[in-house]
Amino acid sequence: MRNTDRKRILITGGAGFLGSHLCERLLAEGHDVLCVDNFFTGTKDNVAHLLGNPRFELLRHDVTFPLYVEMDEIYNLACPASPVHYQHDPVQTTKTSVHGAINMLGLAKRVRAKIFQASTSEVYGDPQVHPQRENYWGHVNPIGFRSCYDEGKRCAETLFFDYYRQHRLRIKVARIFNTYGPRMHPNDGRVVSNFIVQALKNEPITVYGDGSQSRSFCYVDDMIDGFIRLMDSPDDFTGPVNLGNPTEFTIEELSKRVIALTGSKSKLVYKPLPSDDPVQRQPDISLARTKLGWESTVALEQGLVKTIAYFEGLFRSVR
Ligand code: NAD
Ligand code: UDP
Repeated sequence: MRNTDRKRILITGGAGFLGSHLCERLLAEGHDVLCVDNFFTGTKDNVAHLLGNPRFELLRHDVTFPLYVEMDEIYNLACPASPVHYQHDPVQTTKTSVHGAINMLGLAKRVRAKIFQASTSEVYGDPQVHPQRENYWGHVNPIGFRSCYDEGKRCAETLFFDYYRQHRLRIKVARIFNTYGPRMHPNDGRVVSNFIVQALKNEPITVYGDGSQSRSFCYVDDMIDGFIRLMDSPDDFTGPVNLGNPTEFTIEELSKRVIALTGSKSKLVYKPLPSDDPVQRQPDISLARTKLGWESTVALEQGLVKTIAYFEGLFRSVR
């Protein structure tokens, strides 16, 4: 256990991809974890292995409604993260980000808890500055298909900083860049899971556009380490802080690596680029390096091998 006392920690969106890994890590460190989720994109399966732990509680709850619990720390992760899911019900996506933030900030204020916000690189939109630093205000379309997510997350950041200024709340805002790993939803629509699932099924690999757009991919264990370092950092460090892997790959390069690592017979098929799809995205992580002593350590190849093994296991279990 870290040299902190045992804490009562609430994780909203705890049954999702990142949330389930965070629950696992904090329980392993000896804390009491309350996982709150409405199971929109997360599943009980993601946390089933934790249910026998007496320090773990699972509560079905929608964060757009108030929640009254006693907590020392709150990690606010509730929000669908994949474009397919967050565009399915865009009004609910905005409500989850904005009403969810208001409810969790209100809770933090009442019980004087420290609160972490899972913000996103999407607050930079389709960036005109490269790589992105935290002082870049972004280039976001306010009325497009991605806006419910991007603007919802931007408004949540505003609320966090207003609670910090107005109510002296202890806040921690992480801007998360593309993260991948075991427990991504197989129909999530995000590029790493899509390509691995398609490759394992020997189905065509769907490259959107000409595949020259780039992203940087961070393995989940590194990201969770960043979350905890940020939460444990001194109170005067609020963020926002970029967390991600700065090594950039084009989507076409990613597809070729996945084919090579799976030994798949899949061929690439090129599909239209979704609207407002950012051309390039890469975090500048100097602030995380300086303030948190954090950087990603898992190379893409290593992380892909573990993620491929997870999906192989998942498909074996449903056969
Ligand atoms: P995910 O979809 O797997 O997890 C989100 C969880 O929130 C799910 O379990 C879902 O059921 C739950 N949820 C959604 N709406 C809710 C509501 N109204 N009330 C309660 N629970 C609700 O996604 P993830 O990749 O684990 O993302 C977690 C957080 O990190 C999200 O806030 C996302 O915006 C942020 N993020 C993730 C990435 C990434 O690459 N994975 C990148 C940037 C930001
Ligand atoms: N993408 C792709 N094929 C897919 C899914 C996604 O080419 O099957 C592309 C997508 O257009 C984008 C990139 O991969 O340029 C990353 O997409 P993802 O949805 O994973 O994340 P985001 O766009 O939010 O970074």
